[in-house]
Amino acid sequence: MDKCVDKLTLVKNTPESPLPQTYLPPALRPKLAKLGIQHLRDVALHFPLRYEDQTRVVAIRDLMVGESVVVEGVVEFAETQFRPRRQFVALVRAHDDDGSSHFTPRLTLRYFTFYPTIVKALQVGNSVRVFGQIREGRNGIEIVHPLFKKNDSPTTINAAITLTAVYPSADGIPQAALRTLASKAIRIGDAIRDFLPASIREREALPSWPDTLEQLHRPSDASQLASLESRTHPAWRRVKFDELLAQQLALRDAKAMRAAEQAPAIKPTNLIAPLLKQRLQFTLTHAQERAVADVLRDLARASPMTRLLQGDVGSGKTVVAALAALAAVEAGYQVAFMAPTELLAEQHFRKLSHWLQDLPVKLTWLAGSLSSAEQKAAQEQCKRGEAQVAIGTHALFQKKVSFARLGLVVVDEQHRFGVEQRLLLRARGGEQALAPHTLMLSATPIPRSLAMSYYADLDVSVIDEIPSGRQPIVTKLVSERRRHEIAERIYAAAREGGQAYWVCPLIEESDKLEVQLQDASALYAELVTTMPNVRVALLHGRMNADEKAQIMQDFIANKVQVLVSTTVIEVGVDVPNASWMVIEHAERFGLAQLHQLRGRVGRGSAASTCILLFADKLSDTAKQRLKVIYENLDGFVIAREDLRIRGPGELLGPRQSGVPGLRYANIEEDIDLVEAARDAANELQNDPSFNCEAFLERWIAHRTEFAKA
Ligand code: ADP
Ligand code: MG
Repeated sequence: MDKCVDKLTLVKNTPESPLPQTYLPPALRPKLAKLGIQHLRDVALHFPLRYEDQTRVVAIRDLMVGESVVVEGVVEFAETQFRPRRQFVALVRAHDDDGSSHFTPRLTLRYFTFYPTIVKALQVGNSVRVFGQIREGRNGIEIVHPLFKKNDSPTTINAAITLTAVYPSADGIPQAALRTLASKAIRIGDAIRDFLPASIREREALPSWPDTLEQLHRPSDASQLASLESRTHPAWRRVKFDELLAQQLALRDAKAMRAAEQAPAIKPTNLIAPLLKQRLQFTLTHAQERAVADVLRDLARASPMTRLLQGDVGSGKTVVAALAALAAVEAGYQVAFMAPTELLAEQHFRKLSHWLQDLPVKLTWLAGSLSSAEQKAAQEQCKRGEAQVAIGTHALFQKKVSFARLGLVVVDEQHRFGVEQRLLLRARGGEQALAPHTLMLSATPIPRSLAMSYYADLDVSVIDEIPSGRQPIVTKLVSERRRHEIAERIYAAAREGGQAYWVCPLIEESDKLEVQLQDASALYAELVTTMPNVRVALLHGRMNADEKAQIMQDFIANKVQVLVSTTVIEVGVDVPNASWMVIEHAERFGLAQLHQLRGRVGRGSAASTCILLFADKLSDTAKQRLKVIYENLDGFVIAREDLRIRGPGELLGPRQSGVPGLRYANIEEDIDLVEAARDAANELQNDPSFNCEAFLERWIAHRTEFAKA
């Protein structure tokens, strides 16, 4: 079972690798592959979205456009027509209607391809029973290509199957093809093997695996339609349970694999770190002290740390990471300190340079924007072991960069990094005899259920205390029609030594959004003219790194009072004197983004204000989001609301793609199953009769979306 992570990598690196494709119709294979189906047995896990109830007969007068229904009636008219193209058309009226009235509702049945059997069955006077989707035709309602049966046995269409599965499809793969494949798939041994021991199944009241597949793909009891569609049916519980169990097992696997590696046991000398603590203008909070202790304990072990340091924006994670870095440096190891954007990496570089001024620690800056000669020099320093703390973007982990004695990797804003970069990171460690320790920082707060599932492979330290002396940020929702009033407020504040961020979502009008968004450059031009004696600057992602760094420096030094910016400042940026945040088109931002942006202020002792400007026509979700951000300052609460509004995938960003993502279980709603799966994972881990490898293969190996992530 050690191999699941490797398998993901394997699929990723060799997309053309010949996975067995037996039994799938060749013409459909490329299309099926888009649904993650590589093999017939995968179809067994491709569950229906919903079902059509072929037992529900709807009277012709009650038909509604869009419905898929069974209709019964008498053929009143039938002929082959040639205009606009050859087609066979029949008109059907209800049995209990004699057709004498001009207003008798009729249903048109239309076939563009038809055979003599159809013509024969639809002769005038025949009773018919058809099934299909109602649409609006030229002469009233119609069904194109209905399934039909001459109405000789009106009570049943098919004795065994009354609910017909409707599958998620792509590229026009016909439902009929998916149904046929599913019927085949749930007969092959590989797909129906039940891996779960009966004891666990009984304890959790879960149906067997073959029953589960049968009930989901070919349900025979129409009375269960509601529970099948709401996914509360026991068969669905079984699917979700297995999916969550696979996730737990795969994450533990990854963790066990890492724990088996050797890492340097870091014994700090305490010659440098206390000096940093002394010169800080604050004392650490208890939560920060606890986090530092957690990290130092892990670093002292000879197996690699994988710790997530979680704390809301502004809770002070950087200094914890800095103290961890110093411990490694004291013990003679190198540290790689990585941030997702160059702007943020640069801030860290400057902050650490400032903190460590005159102390014997060699910092090295490495980012993509350096000239190739500079990059080369920095790489040399890493390679020779001179760079004690290398700070930069993911440029730190290019192939060319190697470290002589890498002891610790710090990843700031961990959720911002893609799977690819994380794999790369792990690969780096693999090259030296000892794997480095990893400390990941994240402000994305995770509710308990998420932590239990997605982060099951990580150790977590939480900073749940905000440094003292801060005042809560006041949030205001303001219509964009009142922008000029806001500009006046900001102008007044700037003249009194205050500083403000003014954030715009896009920098050019040509960006493809239909709604015209406030153009940062235009706003900049406007503010420059309306705010004499105040320095306004513009910062956006298309400037080069030097320009950006210069502007940030000026802002930090309060040479610039109003910083008009795109979302480049979203993560990490730390300018404690800035106490005003204005966000244009706040309705366009996600909750996590708004929380991050707002977190740029409220970092000093001054009272801070965040103004959310919104456009007039708000969608319901936008209203919901703005309400949440307006009412809450606590990142945990906001994350929970975000999870509720959007679902976990987006909240976690790319992280979920690196572990078994969830297609069926919903960790908020299915928290009881998350817990049950975790307990089961504990038991099964040491159960020799449980075939973990095959079980994970079923749930993970065919998941091509991992490969794409
Ligand atoms: P984040 O957790 O969002 O990365 P930072 O590490 O950037 O937060 O810290 C936010 C600000 O708070 C910084 O200016 C930092 O120097 C300051 N800070 C950190 N810890 C404390 C503390 N214990 N007391 C007061 N200020 C602190
Ligand atoms: Mg930070």
